[in-house]
Amino acid sequence: MNNLLDVKFVGQILRSRWSWRLLRLSLLLLLLLIAAAGWHHHTIPGLEVKDPLMYTNLATYGFWVVWMMGVVFIALFFGRAWCSVCPLGWLNGLVARSGFKLTLPRWINNYVSVTIVLVLLQLIVYLFAIHRYPDFTAWLIGLMLLLTVFSGAFFRGRAFCKLLCPAGAVFGLYARIAPFSLRVKDEPTCAGCDTRACVSGGRFWKKISLGRAVGYWHAERDACPVDLFPAELRDDSGCTLCLGCLQNCDRDNMRLGFRPWLAELGKDRLALTEGLFLLVLLGMLTANFSKVNVDLRELIFWLPEQVAQLLGWQAGGYNLLAVLWITLGLPLLLTVPGWLVMRLAETNFSPVPRPDPPTGQQLDVTAGWWQSFRRLALPYIPLLLAAHAILALVKLNAKGGYLPLVLGDPSGVKSYLAINIMTTVTPPGVVVSLDLLKWVVLLLLIAGYAVSLIAAQRVALDRTGAIRWGYFFGAATGVTLVAALYLATIIVWLFIR
Ligand code: SF4
Ligand code: SF4
Repeated sequence: MNNLLDVKFVGQILRSRWSWRLLRLSLLLLLLLIAAAGWHHHTIPGLEVKDPLMYTNLATYGFWVVWMMGVVFIALFFGRAWCSVCPLGWLNGLVARSGFKLTLPRWINNYVSVTIVLVLLQLIVYLFAIHRYPDFTAWLIGLMLLLTVFSGAFFRGRAFCKLLCPAGAVFGLYARIAPFSLRVKDEPTCAGCDTRACVSGGRFWKKISLGRAVGYWHAERDACPVDLFPAELRDDSGCTLCLGCLQNCDRDNMRLGFRPWLAELGKDRLALTEGLFLLVLLGMLTANFSKVNVDLRELIFWLPEQVAQLLGWQAGGYNLLAVLWITLGLPLLLTVPGWLVMRLAETNFSPVPRPDPPTGQQLDVTAGWWQSFRRLALPYIPLLLAAHAILALVKLNAKGGYLPLVLGDPSGVKSYLAINIMTTVTPPGVVVSLDLLKWVVLLLLIAGYAVSLIAAQRVALDRTGAIRWGYFFGAATGVTLVAALYLATIIVWLFIR
């Protein structure tokens, strides 16, 4: 891994606390501006159209199109780097400095709450289409800011990031494979360091000199907001890249830079509840990706539709069933075949029964589905990232042309009327022609699938470095099934139009 800190100006900026504070403050102001633009706008009075402001108002456009789609590309190359500038995480940490500083109880400090938030978000999108209405979007931003402040007031560190932010958990998964990482240069140096200034926090005297005048200032150093110790980092899912440790370390022992893709994948399996989060994400992303393929969509939503009819439930009940189905039932249906293949291949066709080495990561063929899934799930990550990037790319390409209109008229009312009623403005078209974009999309999917297969091979290695073919075929079956659904969607969506 090279070290960006060694590059002169880049290193200076990365080490400077003030440049980061300025950037985070600017993004917080931008978020407030986005919320303000949507506050009193739901529709346009007098018009029959349901959601006229979806792409012309700054709140809906700025938050759902630019913000939520743009961060996917940051995750693609830089893992959790968005978290280093995220205004919500920053605000959470700022408030926590002067709050009650309670420690999160162990039973809550996992991915369960964030998984529930993800499911609830999907439910309110289905029920209220919040992404289509500026005022609903503004309320969502307001609620997030309130929760950020509230969790900061009670708990130390970034409790909001750990407990309530699905975006951070998604970035954490993508960071496991991203070609970017923060690590220590030399582990023995950390072992011999008794201050652990990088993550210990607390107050210290800082010397300030101005000419011959020298003064001392009782400054405060932030502890690691997620209770990590850089020398013990084994994957990148938890580190929010706040760069606090890098700025605190007085032995210049940190490095931040690029490494090969998948460099550390397969060294460990997912934590129990992170596996649950990935399962829910897999179902949601697959259902949302397949929405544009009408036949596939009908197939996916057939079961909740039938159950809702049987129970006589209306739209609200159906949406609840649909969300439960895509977050729990569908992902099970997608992942169990891979596990069955693994069990069959390992128990019946493995040529030489070979015991696992006594220590370290063991591949236990007798483990149940859930235990195996925590390892077999890792190869889904590149494919999910590819699907996420495709959705973001297509959305930004389709709606990127609205940006000048949104900046010129943040409320979106005049722009909508000019485009659709007075027809004085031509509706913005796509940025890049679909004939070109469809090949880029196809390449992205193929790349994601290929990297997933490489990841399948990584997770099938045991401690001796030998490949367990049953594991490989199980993992490969899982990702192939999902990739086939994505491919069918892309062909119907972009190639047979
Ligand atoms: S976890 Fe969420 S709130 Fe926290 S810094 Fe990352 S994106 Fe922001
Ligand atoms: S390990 Fe360092 S960069 Fe990561 S969250 Fe902790 S202090 Fe921030």
